[in-house]
Parts: sequence; C-alpha cells; structure tokens
Amino acid sequence: MDMKKNRDSGSSKEGLFIVVSAPSGAGKTSICKGALKMLPNVRFSVSYTTRPPRPGEENGKDYYFIHESEFRKRIDEGEFAEWTENYGYLYGTSGRTMRDFLEKGYDLILDTDPHGAKGLKENYTGGIFVFVLPPSIGELKVRLRQRGFEEEAAVERRFKKAMDEIKEIVWYNYIIVNDSLDSAIDKLRSIYVAEKSRRERLTEGIKDIVVSAQ
Ligand code: 5GP
Repeated sequence: MDMKKNRDSGSSKEGLFIVVSAPSGAGKTSICKGALKMLPNVRFSVSYTTRPPRPGEENGKDYYFIHESEFRKRIDEGEFAEWTENYGYLYGTSGRTMRDFLEKGYDLILDTDPHGAKGLKENYTGGIFVFVLPPSIGELKVRLRQRGFEEEAAVERRFKKAMDEIKEIVWYNYIIVNDSLDSAIDKLRSIYVAEKSRRERLTEGIKDIVVSAQ
C-alpha cells in the first residue's frame, strides 16, 4: 500500500487515520484514551520522542523514548512520516507503524502538533484532522498550571505556543471543545463513526447490495 498523495488510498479495506491536535492542557490525551476504549478497531500510533518520560509514562505505550542520536538516525533513514521539534525535544510519527496498522485494516488515532498534522495532510491521503480546544483561554491557563510538573516560565512558554497553535484550526476538519470529558470523548467517537459511514468508504462492502438493486 502506498498512502502517499496522488495515489488512491481511500479504498474501503484500508484503515483511516484520525490526527488529533490540541494545545497542551486542552485534554487531548484523556479524550484519545477514552475514545480508544470504545473503538476496538482503532489503535493509537505511539510516537517517538527524545523528551524524558514524565511520571507514570511508559515506554512503548505513551511514547517510544529514544536518544537524540537514535532519532536523527531514524530521520536519515526516512522512518518518519513527519517529525518536529517542540520545546527542544524531537517528536515523530513512524511511517512504518502507520502503514503496518492501516494495511492490516486497523484505523489509527495519531497525536501530533499542528506542524506534524500539516505534514501528514500534505503528504498522505485518507486523514481526518481534529482539533481540541479548551473551553476558554482562562481555563487553559488554569489547566496548564494544575498539571504541576513544570515551572511557571515553562507554563508561560506552553501558553504562548498554545495561542499560535489555535490559529491553525482553520484547516482542520473537526473541532471539539473540551468542556466536559465525556462529551468530548463522545464527539471524537461520533466523528470516527461518521467517517466510517461515508459512502466512498462503504462502496466495496455494500457492492452486492447496490448491484442487486440495479
Ligand atoms: P508532550 O511533550 O506534552 O507529550 O507533547 C508536546 C507536543 O508534541 C504536543 O503538542 C503533542 O501533540 C506533540 N506531539 C506528540 N507526538 C508527536 C508526533 O509524533 N509528531 C508531532 N509533530 N508532534 C507530536
């Protein structure tokens, strides 16, 4: 399978991928985890990063935590479908992981910042792009401080970056305002269900019915 643009990858058998972006503190991780529990055919694309793990994070589950030299080697080998630098650390999506899952017919949720999401939109077909917004800017600042693992200066940096990222919502397909976790999870699940029900995706599966009706 080749998901690169200008090839037809919208066939019904191939999985679809949903890219979820959000400013830090908007609740994206909880929303993705909640939706994944309800969607058995959907897998999470675990990204690679050079940032150290935070308390509670597991290698291979939250991220693959690797050294910068290893990350750069993988860049040179063309492993990443997209990669970017955030706050001095590198983050990237493995093209191989994406292909493996999608070829097997699984659907994928990916967590990338808008820069990475844009790279995927430009280079791959079949992506759905979802941006998660906090209920308000004030609430975003409160949530960033409540996370408690960063100094005030780092919180301010994330806040400034959040403002820049929010400007990118104009080219996303869907927006979820995270004013209640349950409803945000339900919205992400609904987006997935609606996208899976698109006629173009169903054509193969319902061909017999359509042919019989003609
Ligand atoms: P954090 O360090 O808080 O987990 O993530 C920092 C930022 O990196 C977030 O905006 C997150 O969406 C983004 N990010 C995580 N994985 C990837 C990835 O594979 N590619 C890109 N481009 N961004 C990522």
